[in-house]
Amino acid sequence: MTKEEILRQYFGYSQFRQGQETLIDSILAGKDTLGIMPTGAGKSICYQVPALMMDGITLVISPLISLMKDQVGALNAAGIHAAYLNSSLTPGQYMKALNFARQGRYPIIYVAPERLMTDAFLDFALNARISMVAVDEAHCVSQWGQDFRPSYLKIVEFIDQLKTRPVVSAFTATATSQVREDIVRILKLREPTVLTTGFDRSNLYFAVKSPKDRYASMVNDLERHRGESGIIYCLTRKTVEEVCGKLIQDGFPATRYHAGLSDEERRRNQDDFIYDRSPIMVATNAFGMGIDKSNVRYVIHYNMPKDMESYYQEAGRAGRDGEPAECILIYGGQDVVTNQMFIEHNQENDALDPETRAIVMEQDRERLKKMTYYCFTNDCLRDYILRYFGEYGSNYCGNCSNCLTQFETVDVTELAKGIAGCVESSRQRYGINVIIDTIHGANTAKIRGYRMDENPHYGELAKVPTYKLRQVFNHLLMEGYLSLTNDEFAIVKLTEKSKGLLDGEETVLMKMAKEQEPAAKAQKMRKGRAGAAAGEMGEGEQSLFERLRALRTQIAREEKVPPYIVFSDKTLVDMCMKKPRTREEMLAVSGVGKFKYGKYGERFLECVRGAKAYPQGALCL
Ligand code: ADP
Ligand code: ZN
Repeated sequence: MTKEEILRQYFGYSQFRQGQETLIDSILAGKDTLGIMPTGAGKSICYQVPALMMDGITLVISPLISLMKDQVGALNAAGIHAAYLNSSLTPGQYMKALNFARQGRYPIIYVAPERLMTDAFLDFALNARISMVAVDEAHCVSQWGQDFRPSYLKIVEFIDQLKTRPVVSAFTATATSQVREDIVRILKLREPTVLTTGFDRSNLYFAVKSPKDRYASMVNDLERHRGESGIIYCLTRKTVEEVCGKLIQDGFPATRYHAGLSDEERRRNQDDFIYDRSPIMVATNAFGMGIDKSNVRYVIHYNMPKDMESYYQEAGRAGRDGEPAECILIYGGQDVVTNQMFIEHNQENDALDPETRAIVMEQDRERLKKMTYYCFTNDCLRDYILRYFGEYGSNYCGNCSNCLTQFETVDVTELAKGIAGCVESSRQRYGINVIIDTIHGANTAKIRGYRMDENPHYGELAKVPTYKLRQVFNHLLMEGYLSLTNDEFAIVKLTEKSKGLLDGEETVLMKMAKEQEPAAKAQKMRKGRAGAAAGEMGEGEQSLFERLRALRTQIAREEKVPPYIVFSDKTLVDMCMKKPRTREEMLAVSGVGKFKYGKYGERFLECVRGAKAYPQGALCL
């Protein structure tokens, strides 16, 4: 079979995505290959397709048990024999799987790196024909990456043992040049083909909000996503508990995940989420590695995370199926303080010598600052992200909250002078809140205690709402008119640039959101937003979608697999659009391969055919 035929037959896709073909061709030509692609770009297919075309076995090294299980489940569902070998198997199961492997039953075997150098595994591998070793999450070999795994260093040791060196391919979503060089060096890739596709995920909509009431604002977003699956990330375990508790009280099917729960509960809750029994997951950043759920329609950050790396990784868990999905970050000033505290008290740094520790903390603070600016910027959010990761974006994407807001350029020189003047006259001793309260003329014990009510700028901008003062303040920080000390106190300091401002030589312009009628804004949002997965379908299609989804849930239950393993949301949407009547038409739906057609095709066809005959809301079970 050609690679195109395999793609169609087993995976049900008609075309390769950007980069996939180059990587596959390189592997098939026997070259070592390194693919760097963002989450959701479709890395797995890059080694799975050639694995089915090569003689011999492909070993896939993967760091996480859940990831392996998911991938193997998806392959088996597509009619491809695959197995995994890791510590979740009993010794008996493990031996059985190895025996099947010896008989050549599996073209693809997932194996945990810890297993590679064990006697039992080596005994198998040294006598088998291994045509490729594919290293998933390859950044785990690098100490510079976020997820260094010492067991990954065993991979080369293992490859060196083999009589014939297989093709080695490696894949990751982490792109810094240091990590990339480490992968090539440590895995000893031989003149590899290296391909990096862009980091942009155009199906993701990005938004930042700083509402008065976080919870209410989030519930609004959840209402728009009724019935869909999403993740809500919180900074602390306590917040996870609170938010999850409230959501359940308010009737949302939520579950929770954080490091303080028992292994047993974590596993159960994760499964509830994956199987869509509790489609809303409230979690700390402990959740998500290895979660391959493709139908996550939104990721809401209830707090600002510690850096852009974490943010993009977590937000990137939305919309892996390529359908529109939303990434919403809810920002509050307190988040900065909490993150500062994490940096100050990071126990992982305790082992470091004082000098290194200082450097690490300094880098952490710098990353936190860049994260904070993401929340402040009025420019295109996607552009900000891409620039952060070293790519050039365009300054308008049309699919982020800033691009969809109408801004006007406002002269804020007077406000800026007032703020800088207040910082100067109080001898650069206070943080943002004291300065803003002073200038706004707050009559609080704290202000009186600091005798800021005697400051010449006290109450100078009493008429300007504090949220606006804050916006201007943030703008001054971003533009370098003011700075903050890099410690937990965050004291406001003047800079070179502030002098020009105070001397009246500078004009400060800033983009501010135009006040809009809420209704008009909502309308615009709805139009501008790429639309939730099913959002752009007509009413008839919507109800067909619901019926297909119910059928999918039913089948998933029967087969005890997560619903998205049966068909992805994207496939169901395409089915609604194409309304296939025949086998041929059904096979033209994205994600329907021959094997899956054989298993489910008729039932889904019947569901589509019967659509008209069913009254609204009836299900095709
Ligand atoms: P990654 O490992 O890069 O995060 P996956 O391999 O999990 O991404 O793929 C993400 C999704 O994209 C999966 O649902 C996969 O089936 C789908 N996909 C991959 N390649 C294609 C393609 N050529 N056409 C359509 N969908 C694809
Ligand atoms: Zn944008």
